[in-house]
Amino acid sequence: MSIQPETILLPEWVIPIEPRGQVLHRHALVIEGSIIRDILPEADIASCYPGVSVRALPGQVLLPGFVNLHTHAGMTLLRGYADDLPLMQWLQDKIWPAEGQWTRPDFVESGTELACAEFLLRGMTTFNEMYFFPEASAEAILASGLRAVLGLTVLEFPTNYASDASDYLHKGLATRDALRHESRLSFALAPHAPYTVSDSTFEKIVTFAEQLDLPIHLHVHETEHEISDSLKQYGVRPLMRLAKLGVVGPRLIAVHSVHLDRAEMDLFAREGVSVAHCPHSNLKLASGIAPITQLLEMGVNVGIGTDSAASNNQLDMLSELRTAALLAKGIASNPALLPAAEALELATLGGAKALGLQDQIGSIKVGKQADLISIQLDDVGSLPVFDPIAQTVYSASHSQIQHVWVAGEHLLNARIPTKIDLQTLKHKAQQWGRKLKG
Ligand SMILES: [Zn+2]
Repeated sequence: MSIQPETILLPEWVIPIEPRGQVLHRHALVIEGSIIRDILPEADIASCYPGVSVRALPGQVLLPGFVNLHTHAGMTLLRGYADDLPLMQWLQDKIWPAEGQWTRPDFVESGTELACAEFLLRGMTTFNEMYFFPEASAEAILASGLRAVLGLTVLEFPTNYASDASDYLHKGLATRDALRHESRLSFALAPHAPYTVSDSTFEKIVTFAEQLDLPIHLHVHETEHEISDSLKQYGVRPLMRLAKLGVVGPRLIAVHSVHLDRAEMDLFAREGVSVAHCPHSNLKLASGIAPITQLLEMGVNVGIGTDSAASNNQLDMLSELRTAALLAKGIASNPALLPAAEALELATLGGAKALGLQDQIGSIKVGKQADLISIQLDDVGSLPVFDPIAQTVYSASHSQIQHVWVAGEHLLNARIPTKIDLQTLKHKAQQWGRKLKG
């Protein structure tokens, strides 16, 4: 571990996220172990911390690491495996058969390693994962040093991982028991979707979520097809069914939420539901565009997710949050909607709140974890810098991300990963690619 007892970072600007829109110029961050201990003007460093070395980050903006609120890192080896298809055809004809053939612990671990490298290079310090074999994902995540919320995935039908809903739950909870003391891992119950999970299983999940104080990570109202099927099978839209089962509440992270009527948006606001907005995945699968602006106006907490590399196909939060901002403006013909500072907040604090981790991550605040990234803003693509927040959201690219720290540990140093060997990783991904191609 490269944690030093006391580190002082001195960037050009700090965007603390709280309060929204604030930019601190020439302020230093004091990190002790995993914690942000102090934030102070440059002029006060020498008197307050004599003798402590200062790491200058010239031309860089420091902000909290991005929180990717919806991922399937374990399926990253299926990036580009099937494209340009509608969701159900993509799943039934391509993804599920490929998963049937390939999904084993080694496939999940290698895919998660590849995703973690991409997350790191693109400034994500926390991700909310849903996939099979969470114990294999955990191996890769712990080796990477990133922070993650591991979803304990539940479906009714058998896969290589488990035979039925009880088996998924049993295996997932055993993984949680084995890993619950890992400081950078936490857990969520992850029923896949209303169309793959039964009423009785949802009831069990709600009970476990309450007993163990865990979030519920669920795909919901992603497509119109999902809603019309539910009307045929259950006589109600999925969210009404879920509300009766007790799933709709402050623990719920409602992924996608593309198709919501007014009553469902009211329900989300009233019940304190969080939404994981995945604009690229929704656009690529032509599922629609989630009504984020209305949800935010109603006080619903929203975070941003990339979804999987198989449906995106890049794991890049800067690009995702820019698309979120542009879509919100474009569909409403109103350029004032989802301004840069708010988009940045969704990608950091919004995700942290959804995961119940807002006291630890999501903003730069004394006492919070030192999960930080720095972006080189004095780059040809971002100059001149009038407003560091707008420049970060509208012009910076992932290639400008210089440094990443998680819990004070320096994981990306001048764009070089400190714990991941990229050559070995790329070689492994290519080998898998050849196997999958057959
Ligand atoms: Zn997904």
